[in-house]
Amino acid sequence: MGFVGIDLGGTQLRVAVADDHGRLRTVVRQPTQAGRGREHVIDRIVAAVAEALQKEGTSPRRIRALGIGLPGPVDPAAGLVISPANLPGFRNVPLNRILTRATGIPSFLHHDAHLAALGEHRRGAARGASELIYVTVSTGIGAGLLLRGELYAGAHGIAGEVGHIVVQSGGPLCRCGNHGCVEAVASGTGIAHAARVAAPRTPGSALHGIDRPTPEEVVRAARAGDALANSILETAGAYLGIALGTLVNLFNPQLIVLGGSVLQAGRPLLQPMRKSMTASSWKAARRGLRIVPPALAGDAGLIGAVEFARLHAGRGRPA
Ligand SMILES: [Zn+2]
Repeated sequence: MGFVGIDLGGTQLRVAVADDHGRLRTVVRQPTQAGRGREHVIDRIVAAVAEALQKEGTSPRRIRALGIGLPGPVDPAAGLVISPANLPGFRNVPLNRILTRATGIPSFLHHDAHLAALGEHRRGAARGASELIYVTVSTGIGAGLLLRGELYAGAHGIAGEVGHIVVQSGGPLCRCGNHGCVEAVASGTGIAHAARVAAPRTPGSALHGIDRPTPEEVVRAARAGDALANSILETAGAYLGIALGTLVNLFNPQLIVLGGSVLQAGRPLLQPMRKSMTASSWKAARRGLRIVPPALAGDAGLIGAVEFARLHAGRGRPA
């Protein structure tokens, strides 16, 4: 017997078949082709599951459950995909029901960031932690929460939308419609925006004259000693620290798993982040707190999807 885990992103679709203990055995990777619409993407998922089962030499009857992680907002309790920005056409789609019917395997969906947190908790950097927050800072900012060792999704699956904590009143417009969310100022998108605004006004900077500086170009310029690039990363780090401090006060976690491409910026971002996290959280709430990098890298979501399937089959309790 085994499990199927799926990580459905806007660009990539990955399907894993795992054994009864949750160890990944066969992984199938394909482009999602999200632009071709919902029906096409669902057909691709079903075909990729069939391909993975065939490669593994097993059948749907021998699979206990299927877990799928995808970008939010989703409502895991209702089995509904609400309206992910990068999966056009997926609006109020009862994906649990559709996949269960099409694959013959009981299927359960959840937000991908939450499943990444679950993956790190069961098999990665957060093993043994009971209160933990997994925060990933890349193009956007996502997070997953485990309280008392269990996923916490909120009333409608939206808990953990850390990226939309407002840290700069009247700041740049965020994709959620509000202004000054931490995602709008400290994600890759936020850093690129800050560089785009400041570079044309700063003739001495290495970023001056670059039409639309990318976050990678900002990091590279900062490493070469560029003052503007360093100050952009410093500001992003300081805002990120405010959001983390807020989480620390709210949840008193033992562990924050902090990952994502923006963290590659290193010291110019991390030092102000830690400083402002300290300045915006209560000392008592930080006692014993550890901040660690993820251990599963890009596989956290896929492993988490398998673990979510195991949870639903009653076999995924942490040891
Ligand atoms: Zn927002």
